[in-house]
Amino acid sequence: MTPTLPILDNHMHLNPAGRCLDAVREFARAGGTHIVLVSLPPWSLGIEISAPDDYRKVFDKVLKIAWRAEEVEKVKVFVVLGVHPAEINRLSERLGLPSAVELMKGGLELACEYVREGKAIGLKSGRPHYEVEPKIWDASNDIMRRSFELAKDAGCAVQLHTESATEEGLVEIAGIARDAGLPPEKVIKHFAPPMVKVCERIGIFPSVLANEEAMQNALKEGTRFMMETDYIDDPERPGAVLGPKTVPKRTRQLISEWGEDVFWKIHKENPEKVYDVEINI
Ligand SMILES: [Zn+2]
Repeated sequence: MTPTLPILDNHMHLNPAGRCLDAVREFARAGGTHIVLVSLPPWSLGIEISAPDDYRKVFDKVLKIAWRAEEVEKVKVFVVLGVHPAEINRLSERLGLPSAVELMKGGLELACEYVREGKAIGLKSGRPHYEVEPKIWDASNDIMRRSFELAKDAGCAVQLHTESATEEGLVEIAGIARDAGLPPEKVIKHFAPPMVKVCERIGIFPSVLANEEAMQNALKEGTRFMMETDYIDDPERPGAVLGPKTVPKRTRQLISEWGEDVFWKIHKENPEKVYDVEINI
């Protein structure tokens, strides 16, 4: 279908071992126009990290997929690169905690180079979504803080994968960002519940999972959010999270009730402001 408005999925993964370009085709055919493609953890791509520069293999693979997707479908793909918070457990078991921290910070520094070169629009960081020992938690906060410092210097945004969002947790994260000199408006909480008003007050930008109920609740609170599927493209978990056509499908469905204007805000104005990019169809 010919798009009449931009429709952006703010958090999607693509894996050459998964549906990859087929998923992009499905997204585009449903009316999707823009994808924020987030780097997968290295193990999902069969890459083992032993030195910061090993992240180059991960990032180059993500970029290659992005270019291919733009070649074969009429979509614009923005890339977000960084480290996955769960890497800390795997790396510290293998190499010890100090090396894990050093590697992950090094990965973020490398990702920041890609941002400076214009190949990526933001960083990915965060802290574990599951319970961890205090020293792992502190180290994760330290790594996340480093991502904020780098984003501040590069003038880019950071997408966060964290524990389930609570007001308290978000206030804490916004504080860490501010301390590092990064405005919380540049911090995107991926997999956010529809806490639109709370986030607006705290500054953090929510990226809300595009299921029907969450969308209705988010829209009741305002339009300061983005939509995502967190499509993981895992061949072993094909039905996990939401499918690639969910954001365009849900948008079209909701336009009949909420009108088109709110979606110009959600799919164009919001990402343009947060990522400092241009969104056109
Ligand atoms: Zn994800």
